[in-house]
Amino acid sequence: MLIRLLGTGNAAQIPVFGCSCRVCARARVDERYRRRPSSAEIVTSTGRYLLDAGRTDLAEWLDPSVLRGVILTHYHMDHVEGLFQLRWGPLPAIPVYGPPDENGADDLFTHPGCFDFSHQLLPYVPTTISEELTVIPLPLRHSRLCFGYVLRGRRESIAYLSDCDGVGPQSLEQLRREAPKAVIVDCTYPPDAGRNHFSLDRALAFAEHVGAPRVYLTHIGHQLEQYLLEAPLPLDGPVSVACDGMTLTVD
Ligand SMILES: [Zn+2]
Ligand SMILES: [Zn+2]
Ligand SMILES: [Zn+2]
Repeated sequence: MLIRLLGTGNAAQIPVFGCSCRVCARARVDERYRRRPSSAEIVTSTGRYLLDAGRTDLAEWLDPSVLRGVILTHYHMDHVEGLFQLRWGPLPAIPVYGPPDENGADDLFTHPGCFDFSHQLLPYVPTTISEELTVIPLPLRHSRLCFGYVLRGRRESIAYLSDCDGVGPQSLEQLRREAPKAVIVDCTYPPDAGRNHFSLDRALAFAEHVGAPRVYLTHIGHQLEQYLLEAPLPLDGPVSVACDGMTLTVD
């Protein structure tokens, strides 16, 4: 199984509309520095699953014949926007797994199109999505009901924790028990800034607390990226910044 990050930016993405800071200017001329809204795909031998769908260009390149389902962390628009176009596809029902948030986003639940939103997940309860993939929802501290996920393969697991400004004791305990080989975690802001999402100091403290061998920061805002130009993370440390297109394997 493979996890490919398709969007590692926050809701503003990078480049930010109308911003001419160094980070946004660089991303405008060099594709490698772009950060699109939260999206990832999980590639298994029997098909693909979207893990959040914040990108609005999915309909242009996503192969519908291999799309087996969608797993949502929460219903903030920057994580579900892509579904608004995809739903009109003339396809058999595609299951959407996510937190039991009765409001959803805008009219997604009243006009679901090809998506079946009935697959609500329960906190801490492992749910087998396919032969190769079991997910364990971990409630996160965020302004809206939001699940992080342990993505468990046959022998290994990875944790995807976006969006959050903290993890409660029960989620933390389960996370430690699962001992994922890597943790991908929200880090939107530079140190001592913002709320509702981790800032760099809080994300680094969390990473140390969890003790995962590898930690990748995602949901990156342009101010954090400006800060990292001046004060990059140590190259030999366990924490690094994710980028769009990055892949991780989970056996
Ligand atoms: Zn900028
Ligand atoms: Zn959010
Ligand atoms: Zn977000």
